[in-house]
Amino acid sequence: MPKKIAIEVDYRTEEMSETTLQCRAMGHAWQHVPLTVARRLELLQVGQTERIRICLRCEAEKTIRRDLPSYDVTYVNIKYKDPEGYLVPAGTGRMRRQEADKAMLAEEMRNYDLSALEISGELPE
Ligand SMILES: [Zn+2]
Repeated sequence: MPKKIAIEVDYRTEEMSETTLQCRAMGHAWQHVPLTVARRLELLQVGQTERIRICLRCEAEKTIRRDLPSYDVTYVNIKYKDPEGYLVPAGTGRMRRQEADKAMLAEEMRNYDLSALEISGELPE
């Protein structure tokens, strides 16, 4: 039976930029950043190594440090260029990827006139 669609978006997405919504919906677009020789040697002296990654979209920087030779992760940190624009308010729980994706859809369809539209089936979860 045909039904109307109403796209309800998570209120926490309302102030998020297009870039933030994309990273939240699809994950960050990580680009490897080589260590300098000086940093590599500094870490090796304490039995560690490190990976630095930068998101090509939102410019978040992720650091993953590991012990050698076990390669066990000892430290992970993500530094957001715009933490206030990326992170959800404390105590409001995590945001699922599909919520960001749905907010993208709502934005893409913002200027559509859906008043007369009826569709069959349901939006995917
Ligand atoms: Zn990103």
